[in-house]
Amino acid sequence: MGESVGLQSAPIRTCVGCRNQAPQKELLRVVLREADVLPDQHRRLDGRGAYVHHQLECIDRAIQRRSFVRALRATQPLKFDQLLQFASSFVSPQA
Ligand SMILES: [Zn+2]
Repeated sequence: MGESVGLQSAPIRTCVGCRNQAPQKELLRVVLREADVLPDQHRRLDGRGAYVHHQLECIDRAIQRRSFVRALRATQPLKFDQLLQFASSFVSPQA
């Protein structure tokens, strides 16, 4: 086992929406449960996950581009109801 004392200890993930990389903790994990794409705020759900920014824009873009389908390797049409409902809370009233 190669021991690497990395400078970056924080895991980096790619947002499926804008394709930018960010520390895992800055991204929202989503998991696939049946056909539903669920927000996994506390990273406790099992299953294949993908990461996206806590931004409606990124989530929207990922849906439009079918990035979630690819990232989650889904073979069925996905449902984003719960994710979108969750994402609607991102909208800042001061924007
Ligand atoms: Zn993003």
